[in-house]
Amino acid sequence: MKNIPYSENWEPGTWCNSSDEDPLPFLFCPKCGIGLLCISSHYITDDGCVHNSVVCVDNCSFHDFVRLLDYKEKREKLYRSGRE
Ligand SMILES: [Zn+2]
Repeated sequence: MKNIPYSENWEPGTWCNSSDEDPLPFLFCPKCGIGLLCISSHYITDDGCVHNSVVCVDNCSFHDFVRLLDYKEKREKLYRSGRE
């Protein structure tokens, strides 16, 4: 299990919200920095744990379970701002 901090700088090994319409956030691969997780087969619990495990693209060996830190707090802010 890898803990992923929130960042709005699109840095490798961080996550951020994508858009108001998109229910899944961006996750940037800790190894290569590519954007992951815009994948419908994943779901995320309230405490930020992503199921199933995350696998990066073929030329990158990253494969792990991840937890998005501060997930609920950041998503609640997004949902609130979207309703105003
Ligand atoms: Zn990667």
